[in-house]
Amino acid sequence: MSAANLLDFDLEGLAVFCEQLGEKRFRATQLFRWIHQKGATRFDQMSDLAKSLRGKLQGVASIEALKVISEHVSSDGTIKWLFDVGDGNAIESVFIPEDDRATLCISSQAGCAVGCRFCSTGHQGFSRNLSTGEIIAQLWFAEHLLRQRFGRTDRIISNVVMMGMGEPLQNYAALVPALRIMLDDHGYGLSRRRVTVSTSGVVPMIERLQKDCPVALAVSLHAPNDGLRDELVPLNRKYPIDELLQACSEYLTAAPRDFITFEYCMLDGVNDTDVHARQLIDLVRGRISCKINLIPFNPFPQSGLHRSGMDRVQAFGRLLQDAGIVTTVRKTRGDDIDAACGQLAGEVQDRTQAHKRMTRQPISVPVVVETTARPRPSSSN
Ligand code: SAH
Ligand code: SF4
Repeated sequence: MSAANLLDFDLEGLAVFCEQLGEKRFRATQLFRWIHQKGATRFDQMSDLAKSLRGKLQGVASIEALKVISEHVSSDGTIKWLFDVGDGNAIESVFIPEDDRATLCISSQAGCAVGCRFCSTGHQGFSRNLSTGEIIAQLWFAEHLLRQRFGRTDRIISNVVMMGMGEPLQNYAALVPALRIMLDDHGYGLSRRRVTVSTSGVVPMIERLQKDCPVALAVSLHAPNDGLRDELVPLNRKYPIDELLQACSEYLTAAPRDFITFEYCMLDGVNDTDVHARQLIDLVRGRISCKINLIPFNPFPQSGLHRSGMDRVQAFGRLLQDAGIVTTVRKTRGDDIDAACGQLAGEVQDRTQAHKRMTRQPISVPVVVETTARPRPSSSN
C-alpha cells in the first residue's frame, strides 16, 4: 500500500486518519500545524509530536511536494513556478506581490475541458484533475519557500485566487478540502474573502460551494448575451446567463456584504462595443451586487481573436462606471517572464514528448490596478 500524502487531508480528514492509527484527534491538529504552518517535510522534525506517533507515521504517510521544473522571477517581483505533475503534464502557480497584499494564483487541473475560445488552456484540452494535495502543495511550497528566501517567519501570502489552469468547479471534490486548509486557523488562516474561486459558470457547483465553503466568487462572464457567450464559453449552452446570474444572487444571500466579481476579457470587435456595455449594464444593474473586472486579452495565434485597444477598454469601463457599476481594469504583471501562465507548460510537454499539444501562450495574471470602494448593490434608480 502506498503511503498517504498528508497534503491531501483537511483537518477533519487528518483527524480521521489519526484515529485510524489509534491516535487521539488532537494529534491531527499538531501534525496539521507542523505541515502547513511550519512547512515540515519530515516527521522527525516534529519535535512536540510523541515519538510513538512519529514512528507510526513513517512508512504509512508522507508529505509530498510537487516537483519544480522551473522558476522565473520578473523585474516587478512576480514569480512563476512550473511544476511537473507526471505523464508530461505541467501546471503553473504565480506569486504576485503588491504594496498591500501578496497573491498566489493556483491551478486546479492539468488543462481544462471547458474549451473557451479565448483561452490557451482551453485550446490545450483536458488532461486530468489535480488532487487536493497537488492543489494545496502549490501554496505550501510558495509560502514556505518565500519565508525562507525573505528570512521571514510571519505569513507572506495573503490572498489566493483559483485562476491558474483549469476549471476549479469541475474538480469540486478535490477543491473543497484544499479551500478548507487555506481557511483553517491551524492551516493558512486566510479569511474567506481573501480566497477567490474563479469559474466559467458551473451552476450546480456554485450552489454547493455556498453551502460547503463560501469563499469569494469570480465568474468569467465575457459576454452580455447568450448568443455570444455560447460561442466564447461553451459551458453557457448548458448553464445560460440567466441561470448563472440567479446562482450568483443566491450565492450572496448568506453574506449580503459580499459581491461577485465578473471577469470580462476584452476582445476586439467581438464583445467590446458600446452596445455590449449597455447590454451588460442591463444584465446586472439592480440585480446583483458585483464588480466588473475588464481583462485585456492576451492573444495567441489559434484563437483568431485580438486584444481591444486600451481606448476601447477605457471607454467601455467608463460606460459601466457611469451606470454606477464598480469597474476595474486588470493590469498584466510579470510580462518579461510570461508570468501569466502557459508558455512553459507547453514547452515541457514538447520536451517530454508525452503529448503533442499546442504551445500555450501567456495570459494575464489577476492584478487590479484601480483601487475601488467595496461595491454596493448597483441600482437603476
Ligand atoms: N476556469 C476558471 C479559472 C481559470 S481562468 C475561469 O474560467 O474562470 C482565469 C481567468 O483568466 C478567467 O477569467 C479567464 O477568462 C481568463 N483568461 C483565459 N484566457 C485568457 C486570455 N487569453 N487573455 C486574458 N484572460 C484570459
Ligand atoms: Fe477553462 Fe477557464 Fe480557460 Fe475557460 S477560461 S478554458 S474555463 S481555464
